[in-house]
Amino acid sequence: MSKRDYYEVLGVDKSSDPTVIKKAYRKLAMKYHPDKNPDNKEAEDKFKEAAEAYEVLSNDEKKARYDRFGHAGFQGMGGGGPGGFADASDIFENFSDIFGDFFGGAAGGGFSRGGSRSQKPRPKRGSDLRYFLDISLKDSLEGTKKEITFNSDEDCQTCDGSGAEPGKSATTCDHCGGSGQVIQRQGFFTMATTCPSCRGAGTVIKDPCKQCSGGGRLERPRKIQVTVPAGVESGSQLRLSGEGDGGHLGGGDGDLYVVVKVQDHPKFYREGLDLVSDLEVSYLQSILGTEVEVETLSSTVNVEVPLGTQSGDEVRVKKSGFPSLRGRTKGDIRFKMKVKIPKSLTKKEEKLLREIAEEKGEKVKPKGWFG
Ligand SMILES: [Zn+2]
Ligand SMILES: [Zn+2]
Repeated sequence: MSKRDYYEVLGVDKSSDPTVIKKAYRKLAMKYHPDKNPDNKEAEDKFKEAAEAYEVLSNDEKKARYDRFGHAGFQGMGGGGPGGFADASDIFENFSDIFGDFFGGAAGGGFSRGGSRSQKPRPKRGSDLRYFLDISLKDSLEGTKKEITFNSDEDCQTCDGSGAEPGKSATTCDHCGGSGQVIQRQGFFTMATTCPSCRGAGTVIKDPCKQCSGGGRLERPRKIQVTVPAGVESGSQLRLSGEGDGGHLGGGDGDLYVVVKVQDHPKFYREGLDLVSDLEVSYLQSILGTEVEVETLSSTVNVEVPLGTQSGDEVRVKKSGFPSLRGRTKGDIRFKMKVKIPKSLTKKEEKLLREIAEEKGEKVKPKGWFG
């Protein structure tokens, strides 16, 4: 199933400011909230879709990644989606986050489940990242090295990812008593939701680290060299282990996937391991045969055009195509012959051709037709 664009989901523009985005989400969340639409799968899906879009677009860092990479920026990597919408409690975390000021007073804080559901900060592997790299057909034939620049996240070095000023530590959340959960009542319904104050951590940071504003993470500009092997195809992914987002609190680093896109060439294209192109020869060359010098992507080759070559015939230059990424085989260069018939002839040409036609007894248009 294809995913809808997050901006489209919320009905906002890329340039919309956070208050507009928040307002748009709030409206949708009100409309599709499960309490208002019991047993309505469609409303539930819309509610989840809006929550997911808001989760990304309300976060500067995730929004920037989404603007750059689209859904691909979050795909199937480590956490399973932006922030991991694996279970409903995450949705309600978002929900109580945005409606916190509405329900805050009625939440009857302090409910505890013995802290068993509390999500204490724990090491987490860094996210995998994707980078889309354009290369030329020549680069894919010969292989190349490309320098790429991008940003990755890593733990703030000042606070080691804790988010608290050095020397200070997080304290138990007053709102939920450290359980990370609160009970909310709405009419007949009672819901246990993630504490809006500490977002389920059970602890709050009273002295946030100045370097990272308490987030514990910072963006780092990166520049690395990628070795692109000869024979690489459009869509190939090169995995650079450990070059993704840095791990959190000692978790492992994510990987970087470089997705290769091979640009079109005006003359040559790829078919399997073969490099293919049209090759034009004159009618005389096609009849009598010849050898022509052709410039390919990386060299000049001599192409043997046999006597009696027809339009559509293929002439091969063996082992000059793409190398196979696995194994030692190599494709050919294939030239598809195009025989060019002249649209006008010199007087002498016409005379000679007429002589040939006469000798072969072929009926042709009478003299003067060309002029
Ligand atoms: Zn910090
Ligand atoms: Zn709390």
